Amino acid sequence: MKPIERSLVLIKPDAMERGLAGTIIGRLQSQGLKLIAVKMLHMDRELAGRHYAVHKEKPFFAGLVSYITSAPIVAAVFSGDDAIARIRQIMGPTDPAKAEAGTIRGDFGIDIEHNSVHGSDAPETAAQEIRLFFGEGEIFP
Ligand code: UDP
Ligand code: MG
Repeated sequence: MKPIERSLVLIKPDAMERGLAGTIIGRLQSQGLKLIAVKMLHMDRELAGRHYAVHKEKPFFAGLVSYITSAPIVAAVFSGDDAIARIRQIMGPTDPAKAEAGTIRGDFGIDIEHNSVHGSDAPETAAQEIRLFFGEGEIFP
């Protein structure tokens, strides 16, 4: 039996600008993932720095923070069996140029920065990320 997991999903500014929030949430729901929290917010630089702390020393960090804070986004929590790996599979790899058609990034991603969606990469990071965006009272398991 695969464990029931939670994952933080962000609909990034490039997808928001093209009205893709509903499409992306719908793709995850249609794969049997359960939407248990959702909100729209405009990330500030502090939240972006905490969410992407692991990338602080990377050359793309400054651009990534500017991008993710450039427009309002949708944050959501999904739950399900093996949700973390399954969502990353449905999203496709970081670089849309390497993502297959039928994946979210393959269909909608623009480039390696503007890749439409975030999904947590492990149970520990998922728990940390979810705490950054949601209080327990905002999650409806
Ligand atoms: N990113 C970027 N340039 C890179 C690699 C990543 O701008 O060379 C951005 C991209 O938006 C990516 C995010 O930084 O989604 C986080 O990178 P990570 O390696 O964690 O990829 P992910 O887990 O999102 O697939
Ligand atoms: Mg990552």
